[in-house]
Amino acid sequence: MAINTPTIKVAIIGGGPGGLAAAIELGKLPFVSWTLYEKKPQISETGGGISLQRHTWRMLELLGADGNITAGDYFRPEDGHTVQHRNARDGTLLGKSYTPEDTPPKQASCRMVRPKLQGALLKEVDQAKIQLSKKLVAIEKLQDGGKLRIVFEDGFEDEVDLLVGADGIRSAVRQFLFPSHNLSYIGQSAYRTLTSTSAISAHLTSKNIEFAPLRGPIFWHNVGGKYVYTCPLGGDVFEVTARIRRLPDGQDHVSWGQPYDLHHLLSEYEEFCPAVREILTVAAAEGNTQEFAMFSGPRLERCVGDEDRGEAVALLGDASHPLSGAFGAGAGFALEDAYTLGKALEWSFGRRGDGSDKGVDVERAVAEGLRLYDRTRSPHYKDLYGVLDKMGALNAALVKEGLPVDDEISERVKRAWGAKNDWMYYYKADEIIRLAILELDRKEGVEEVSNTVIDGVGNVKLDGSEMVEVRIGI
Ligand SMILES: Cc1cc2nc3c(=O)[nH]c(=O)nc-3n(C[C@H](O)[C@H](O)[C@H](O)COP(=O)(O)OP(=O)(O)OC[C@H]3O[C@@H](n4cnc5c(N)ncnc54)[C@H](O)[C@@H]3O)c2cc1C
Repeated sequence: MAINTPTIKVAIIGGGPGGLAAAIELGKLPFVSWTLYEKKPQISETGGGISLQRHTWRMLELLGADGNITAGDYFRPEDGHTVQHRNARDGTLLGKSYTPEDTPPKQASCRMVRPKLQGALLKEVDQAKIQLSKKLVAIEKLQDGGKLRIVFEDGFEDEVDLLVGADGIRSAVRQFLFPSHNLSYIGQSAYRTLTSTSAISAHLTSKNIEFAPLRGPIFWHNVGGKYVYTCPLGGDVFEVTARIRRLPDGQDHVSWGQPYDLHHLLSEYEEFCPAVREILTVAAAEGNTQEFAMFSGPRLERCVGDEDRGEAVALLGDASHPLSGAFGAGAGFALEDAYTLGKALEWSFGRRGDGSDKGVDVERAVAEGLRLYDRTRSPHYKDLYGVLDKMGALNAALVKEGLPVDDEISERVKRAWGAKNDWMYYYKADEIIRLAILELDRKEGVEEVSNTVIDGVGNVKLDGSEMVEVRIGI
């Protein structure tokens, strides 16, 4: 880094996994002075469990937060399976996936309660730089020097060189960049319950224990988008998620994390096998349920501000890809975004500082870093939306076939889950950005960042040439 590199002021909006990871990564850059603003009065998490797939562990290691999660914090199946798929009506096992053999043991998939991930990240963050109860309500592009003014609900204002929108699926920062982008209710709600493993174990009849709900994560599939997901979460915590179609008529479907009495739902699961019904009954009696209405939005054309308008803004995590929890890996995607953003800025500031006696042109360095960030992450999200489109088409075709119910269930599992749609769990975001930077440095003086294309599986292409790098990440 050049000696005369100035300090740039960065505001991170949101203290979820994405915002905390951004604080860790930007905190490693000596030229960044950051503040994280969170609207809630504390850094906290709603909801049930969260899966840490291999890509998430990889990022946690790079962030230096993996050591804050110990074996007692999570549940990992003993036989190395990642998930089972069962017919919800009779319990038949339809598919079982395993962690790939080359996975370092520490990076094997596991599941834990959400606040533990949050806590692990928070431990690595300089908490003196977190401002709580600060809800961002307005953003204004200033004419001079590429700065942005940010305004909070309590009247506090600040001016920053770079704004990082890590403010979740209902991102105010995204709304500023893309005013016409809208989320819509996907017609389904998830009812997430945390109960105790000992309660489940005590109530499950021995016959139903044969289905192994205590030994690993299970999707219990039915037709019509209705399923139940069960999984131990480590310690004595057990998670039950029931997902079901809910039409928006007359109900408040903006419900997110509202307490819910699961007894209201039990009659809708009567066609499920006894094991699932027993689990739901225990969950209703002994657990705490929250309702989550699922929203999603179309893919964004870019996950940064408009460079021509000088908008020095990066979106990350759910703000950059409103996927509504698809793939159960959004926290991992958020960590990848944060890591990539840090590396992109480190590169662009290093580059702009080198050999210059006038110091770094901050606006230009920020713009180049954001361009590289966008070129690296947007293709990944394009590929993820592509998987969803493929699944949607597959589903529509299957419904058209009009198969008997049990056949439809097994065909759906075979076609959707057997089609190797899990490459995102093995993606190596750090390798992608490393290769992109290597390639840019190699071609320095000839290439511009704007000519870089990196697709979702790690092919790096520069200046209209052929894809030059190996496929990585799968
Ligand atoms: C049903 C479901 C299941 C999921 N399962 C998994 C899973 O198993 N594994 C996984 O990795 N991911 C999972 N996800 C996805 C994961 O929860 C999200 O992708 C992840 O939380 C995104 O992190 P984030 O930091 O981008 O956003 P969030 O976690 O939403 O954090 C955003 C933060 O910004 C704050 N904020 C919002 N607006 C403002 C404002 N105006 N001013 C200041 N602060 C603001 C919020 O209070 C919040 O703290 C699931 C999601 C759903 C819905």
